[in-house]
Amino acid sequence: MYSERLSTLPPYLFADIDRAKGKAIQKGIDMIDLSVGDPDLPTAPHIIEALYEAAKDRNNHRYPSYAGMLGFREAVAAWYKKVKNVRLDPQTEVLTLIGSKEGIAHTPFAFLNPGDITLVPDPSYPVYANATILADGKPHYMPLLRENDFLPDLGSVSSDVAKKAKLMFLNYPNNPTTATADSSFFKDVVDFARDNDIIVCHDNPYSEMTYDGYRAPSFLEVDGSMEVGIEFHSVSKIYNMTGWRLGYAVGNRDIIGGLGRVKTNIDSGTFQAVQIAGITALTGPQDDVQRCMKIYEERRNILYNGLRGIGLDVDKPRATFYLWSCIPEGSDSIDFSKVLLEKCGIVTTPGVGFGKCGEGYVRFALTEGVDRIKEAIDRMKSVL
Ligand SMILES: *Cc1c(COP(=O)(O)O)cnc(C)c1O
Repeated sequence: MYSERLSTLPPYLFADIDRAKGKAIQKGIDMIDLSVGDPDLPTAPHIIEALYEAAKDRNNHRYPSYAGMLGFREAVAAWYKKVKNVRLDPQTEVLTLIGSKEGIAHTPFAFLNPGDITLVPDPSYPVYANATILADGKPHYMPLLRENDFLPDLGSVSSDVAKKAKLMFLNYPNNPTTATADSSFFKDVVDFARDNDIIVCHDNPYSEMTYDGYRAPSFLEVDGSMEVGIEFHSVSKIYNMTGWRLGYAVGNRDIIGGLGRVKTNIDSGTFQAVQIAGITALTGPQDDVQRCMKIYEERRNILYNGLRGIGLDVDKPRATFYLWSCIPEGSDSIDFSKVLLEKCGIVTTPGVGFGKCGEGYVRFALTEGVDRIKEAIDRMKSVL
């Protein structure tokens, strides 16, 4: 019944965990869910108010424009100028997306011919590889190793692979490893992309989720980046708006144009009321962002100290709302996640679900309050 394409998607590695989670919930176990990268904090009231007002306006009830409202694209350009000092033409260098996942998933369709290679970090957000496969391309994995600060070693990509590669996905601050990259790494990426004629897609939804005064750069801050790449960004994580489905792609106009052409044939844009609320999010007061980051910071500190206290080897992240922890020697990530689930009632994501090189790790998301995180640590202490 299904296409070959669908059968070539890698197996869904969370199936076991999902089953165990279902069983535990049925048994009535009080679960502490630290598995999904979905903020538990609410969207700020002034953004909800903007949606409500815009929803009442009948002009917003019709099909939106394909590229997105110019007003929203101008707000994105203004945000990039102010926060990242990146100059963008809102007419040609900004595209509204139905969440950044939508744009990431459609990008390979604009650029890959059958058999073309996409360079994909391992571990990484599964959409990069799976969208490549759905577009009849081939993912080539670049290992992200702790000894390289979870940055890919571009020099180890063979010239044969580099020549066949059409796209490269990157994501810093990184999900799941929490690693960050500086502009000098991005500069190397620009040189590599230029030498091998590769389109760089930098996925940056966590750029404002930072701690301890760290400032995460945009890929587009680096000289030459606008010739080789685009960046995906989103209101989802910073403004607690994952359910609203609003993201944007910015950067090179030809690349943006290619993605736009695919989208014109598949979707009909994002509800204008949501884009208007997005303008409010990007241009309005940002104190709610600061407030949320304080909350995540406290959770991060408690979980980090707790995990260290029970002997798990974990780095303190300076960005994202995850902790990427080594698992105890002799265990594997699916088994360890199952132990946490069945013995402690704690849901985590096994590292191998993000790729082979994620084996040996487990990801905790900071999506429960401090009391629950403390409770989680107490439960782990008594079991491990
Ligand atoms: C959450 C996430 C996204 C998707 O965000 P949306 O804008 O909600 O689609 C993309 N990339 C990474 C790495 C993420 O963690």
